[in-house]
Amino acid sequence: MKIICVGRNYKAHAQELQNEIPTEPVLFIKPDTAILKGNDFYIPEFSSEIHYEAELVVKISKGGKYITKANAHKHYEQIALGIDFTARDLQSQLKAKGLPWEKAKGFDGSAVVSSFFPISDFNRDEIKFQMLKNKQLVQSGNTKEMIFDIDQLISYISEYFTLRVGDLIFTGTPAGVGAIVENDILEGMLENQAVFNIKIQ
Ligand code: ZN
Repeated sequence: MKIICVGRNYKAHAQELQNEIPTEPVLFIKPDTAILKGNDFYIPEFSSEIHYEAELVVKISKGGKYITKANAHKHYEQIALGIDFTARDLQSQLKAKGLPWEKAKGFDGSAVVSSFFPISDFNRDEIKFQMLKNKQLVQSGNTKEMIFDIDQLISYISEYFTLRVGDLIFTGTPAGVGAIVENDILEGMLENQAVFNIKIQ
């Protein structure tokens, strides 16, 4: 199983990090060991600036290569809400040197994934999600604000990476990313349902 992540898929988030609005999806991969086990996230020693990024997660239910946009909806049946934890300090250093981001994005525990829900329960063009930090709303996203929608992403990703059953796609984060400290609580909401509650240690 692999985790394919999309960067800069919401205009306002690209702008808050002073990145250009992309003309094609920005992709990176987390290893399967990045999945957080349990509900406690431990800040790693190599970073003093871990950011949360709430993202809609799509699980691939049918593998494929060169999937067309028109057929993409046949390749997923379930979604979840996730967090793409990012060592922003390390990522900034690596970006400045033109080096790959993997250490800043793919470390152990850096991928939170809630339970999965059938996509048929949602209007896929307009799925709302939110993240609360210590009960305060910090991120609010809607799939209608994506620069590249889910079907476009699946089609684009499958040109480069064969998709297999169980692969996860993190579809990008809306504006409002920020740093965490010990004892913070991150709660994820998918539409009006609380789907995760992560304690920062
Ligand atoms: Zn992200």
